[in-house]
Amino acid sequence: MAINIKRPNGTEDVLPSDVHKWHTVEKIARDTAETFGFSEIRVPTFENTDLFLRSVGETTDVVQKEMYTVKAKETEFTLRPEGTAGTIRAMLQNGLLNEALPQRVYYLLSCFRHERPQAGRLREFHQFGLEMAGSASPAADAEVISLAKTLLDRLELKNIKLFINSIGCPKCRAEYHKALRTYFEARKDELCETCQDRLVKNPMRILDCKSPICQEIGKDAPIILDYLCEECSSHFESLKKYLTALGIEFSVNPKIVRGLDYYTKTVFEFVTTEIGAQGTVCGGGRYDGLIEQLGGQKVPALGFGMGIERLLLVMEKQGCPFVIPKKCDIYFATMGDAALEKAMELSHQLREYGYYAEFDLMGRGLKAQMKYANKIGASFTLVLGDNELSEGKAKIKEMESGEETEILLNDKFVGNFDGVYFDKIMNVIEDDEAMAAFMNGKENN
Ligand code: ATP
Ligand code: MG
Repeated sequence: MAINIKRPNGTEDVLPSDVHKWHTVEKIARDTAETFGFSEIRVPTFENTDLFLRSVGETTDVVQKEMYTVKAKETEFTLRPEGTAGTIRAMLQNGLLNEALPQRVYYLLSCFRHERPQAGRLREFHQFGLEMAGSASPAADAEVISLAKTLLDRLELKNIKLFINSIGCPKCRAEYHKALRTYFEARKDELCETCQDRLVKNPMRILDCKSPICQEIGKDAPIILDYLCEECSSHFESLKKYLTALGIEFSVNPKIVRGLDYYTKTVFEFVTTEIGAQGTVCGGGRYDGLIEQLGGQKVPALGFGMGIERLLLVMEKQGCPFVIPKKCDIYFATMGDAALEKAMELSHQLREYGYYAEFDLMGRGLKAQMKYANKIGASFTLVLGDNELSEGKAKIKEMESGEETEILLNDKFVGNFDGVYFDKIMNVIEDDEAMAAFMNGKENN
């Protein structure tokens, strides 16, 4: 019987030809987070199932339909469906909340949800996310939203709309739940089975249901903003004021309730209409009760998660710039074993200085080696044979122009190559902008 070695549905391979796109997002995400005072945290891929039941919430789609729960011997675990729960668990377990507040951490990680795979919706996907714990101030909400916006801008994404809402605190939500129950009760029989159950346990979740019928019924449902208590209402007003002061455009969308139970007060989404139905590239909000719910002190907190696959879909569609993948600086074409040894030695020296050097490992003839050098786009080639070795010098060829320069193969070889290399750049680069682009590419290498 043939074994099935295809990758599972809803997973993706990132091939070497595409990985620079991921590096672009990861690098700019890290740099941006760090300029806002966030440090990276790394947490396990799986956690105790209870952690997600308690935090994400038992009536959410994620917990009810999407978790990958695995049994190994007598223990049971769940692959993380999101990053917040594990991150807060780690902050508590390692006492980070006893240190200077606010505590600010970011992460780049994979998440697992058993969903119906489609463009922008995978079963293993990746998030850039962050959490800030300790501040109850709406300025913290503005800071976190501003960070997300700065990142999207630095990635040069366009036409992404920010929607914000407040879903209040347990105090104002009690009244709101009552109003929702009354509203949905009238059309209870038309709701999907899950939502009939939600009507009893957590009626706000009905607003997040993906079923078109439930969505249609929910259209005229009461909105939470009419039920906010004074504290939640003034928190929301301050946030709007800060965003305006920062020049960040937003729309209030009272329909945003977010798919996870732990949110309180501010929730927000950055949405694009350019990649079809899965247009939410970033979702987040405040979760003032979560840390206490997980057995910690009462510490207010907030954060967001950004789907990297969705970001990349938009970036590709919009032609956003990616870092230039490193290209071969010099290829040594060799004839004979002594030349191969010399190529090894010179390559080693060049690599110590950050150059990308290659030589033949396939036993190809000279012509085939040159063809290969062309194929990988080497900037320079240098042919090494018996003559070059005995004379201690060789011709280095700039592939684009075909121009050849003599270079000494002595102990100053790296310096000699530097000279040829920078001469080439000076010839090719015409203005400051091109120079900046070149240096940027080199730095990213
Ligand atoms: P959606 O409404 O699209 O299902 P969600 O509310 O479940 O999103 P969150 O739990 O807030 O999403 O996750 C944060 C971000 O992670 C989303 O905005 C999205 O960019 C990304 N994301 C969520 N689920 C998936 C998935 N199955 N595949 C790819 N990206 C995802
Ligand atoms: Mg979802």
